[in-house]
Amino acid sequence: MRIDAAKTILILGGTAEASVLAGDLSKKPELRVITSLAGRTSSPLAIAGEVRKGGFGGVEGLASYLAAEKIDLLIDATHPFASQISANAVKAARLASIRLEQIERPPWQAQNNDNWQSVPSLEVAAMALPVGARTFLALGRQHLEAFFGRDDVHFVVRMVDPPKNPLPFKQYELMVAHAGKDETSETALFKSHDLTHLVCRNSGGKRGLAKLAAARILGIQVIMIERPVAVIIAD
Ligand code: NAP
Repeated sequence: MRIDAAKTILILGGTAEASVLAGDLSKKPELRVITSLAGRTSSPLAIAGEVRKGGFGGVEGLASYLAAEKIDLLIDATHPFASQISANAVKAARLASIRLEQIERPPWQAQNNDNWQSVPSLEVAAMALPVGARTFLALGRQHLEAFFGRDDVHFVVRMVDPPKNPLPFKQYELMVAHAGKDETSETALFKSHDLTHLVCRNSGGKRGLAKLAAARILGIQVIMIERPVAVIIAD
């Protein structure tokens, strides 16, 4: 990534990569480094440099912020499924005439012995589950709606923040926890729930790899929701 000539950098964050980058760039005393978070997580981990929270108010809001703070390099290090803010970043950088760099995690690839079905959306993932499947949903609360109504499936749901209300599933178990740290713990967990299916999004990165290894070891079918294709429509 070209940092040369930049003095004030805005990192669109919310990912581990963004936090590591903020830590690295903040060590350079000549730079002002600001990380922007959407503000969805109740207690985000500490980030080096300045941190701002909350939406900008669309493309124009982001472009105004870039101008007001005299940002000269915008780095989009958001999650691969955060497509709205990434599209906004492209347009706002163009409006404000500043350079945009994008950091994208490579997606996971199926390995030998993996049993993956790639699907384009949450809705197709929900339809792909057979009757009676014992299914682990590695998805946040905001992504569960497509699975409501599958009363013929038993769900084990893991999420970081507890839901405000009970989930409207007929048969489910809830785990409030982060992803398991290694394949041994994930394998033990999946085995204890007698799982047949795992549903997750192809986020990439190291953190979610353990669950995929566990599925491989146990012969569990993975319904892999692939990334949205970025379509930027010029104004
Ligand atoms: P999104 O759908 O692409 O963005 C929706 C709106 O949220 C944006 O238009 C923007 O509001 C605001 N926003 C998003 N990211 C922002 C940021 N870094 N700083 C300031 N405002 C931001 O995003 P999302 O999928 O809801 O994800 C929100 C954040 O969580 C992202 O920063 C992402 O890196 C992180 N995250 C997302 C996922 C995921 O699965 N999508 C997973 C892990 C972490 P305005 O239009 O008002 O500016």
